[in-house]
Amino acid sequence: MNSSSITHAVINLSALRHNQKVLQKKAPNSQILAVVKANAYGHGMVKIAQALKGIHALGVARLNEALLLRDKGITTPIVLLEGFFHANDINTLQQYNLQTVIHSQQQLEALIEAKLDKPLQVWLKLDTGMHRLGFHGEQFDCAYQRLKQSKNVIQPIHLITHFHCADELDNNITSKQLAFFTEHIKTDSGLNSLANSAATLAWPATHADVIRPGIALYGISPFADKRADDFNLQPVMTLKSQLIAVRTHQAGESVGYGANWTSKKETILGVVAVGYGDGYPRMAPEGTPVLVNGRLVPIVGRISMDMLTVDLGSDCHDQVGDDVTLWGDGLPATQVANHIGTIAYELVSKLTSRVALQYVP
Ligand SMILES: *Cc1c(COP(=O)(O)O)cnc(C)c1O
Repeated sequence: MNSSSITHAVINLSALRHNQKVLQKKAPNSQILAVVKANAYGHGMVKIAQALKGIHALGVARLNEALLLRDKGITTPIVLLEGFFHANDINTLQQYNLQTVIHSQQQLEALIEAKLDKPLQVWLKLDTGMHRLGFHGEQFDCAYQRLKQSKNVIQPIHLITHFHCADELDNNITSKQLAFFTEHIKTDSGLNSLANSAATLAWPATHADVIRPGIALYGISPFADKRADDFNLQPVMTLKSQLIAVRTHQAGESVGYGANWTSKKETILGVVAVGYGDGYPRMAPEGTPVLVNGRLVPIVGRISMDMLTVDLGSDCHDQVGDDVTLWGDGLPATQVANHIGTIAYELVSKLTSRVALQYVP
């Protein structure tokens, strides 16, 4: 490794394949639509897509994500989870063999009116209660009939919905959403898809034909209060850096911008070469854990653009050049996220281009 990648994310592809197997075992009768939007949650979309074998489809959120996958030679079916945003993109979908969600009247009319040589595979979205995208009950039935009669649409039409509380194990909203979806299934519709990671892990009744895991594939728990290894999931990303300074620090001295932390006693501080310029959240408070030589040590002082500081303790033996783990192996991203007041999804997907992704097969 060269010196420019002192801070890098190790991406463990065998952990990814392991997680795929775990999810497949959880939902043995379902196919997997692997969600790789947002650069595969920061893990590198193309490499992740290449490593996933035997899946039903890849899910993305933007047309340019789908086009990048096609440009890199990936022939797996791709679903645009929010569909197309402009009518003039419909021909591109056909040209690159992309499947589309239809969630709104505007999309429906545009697709029916488009001049296409070949029909598209459509996933019609039912709003079962999230109230973000999708058709309500009666409009859904009407949209289904319109699409059924359109020569631009491959038959049968697949059906899709999304859960908004599946990560809350005692919240019966998910059961209500499932019941509403089941009421609206058509006798002649195609595949049904409801379950994100949380539903795949916790709500087996929702598995249906196609599960749509994102975060769990990357070995991260979708539940704030459950660990990934409770489900035998392994972290795919480990964000690593190094100590670039180890300094004795007197009682009463502050560290960093704003001087907002002052040591109560003499200690040894470590300076780690990672900061918000790499995507480590500036909002991380004092006490957020960092893994140094196998033990958790607390962040002290503010996060800078290129560095953060940890209290190594007065009797430590850590040295400049020692490895530091910010999250991943040995320190679940969910645990770090809980400290910061965010979710692990945001941590992994916000790494900046300064962080090299280093793949381990
Ligand atoms: C992002 C997304 C998913 C994956 O959600 P996870 O919580 O990461 O499993 C599934 N379905 C849709 C429609 C999505 O947008």
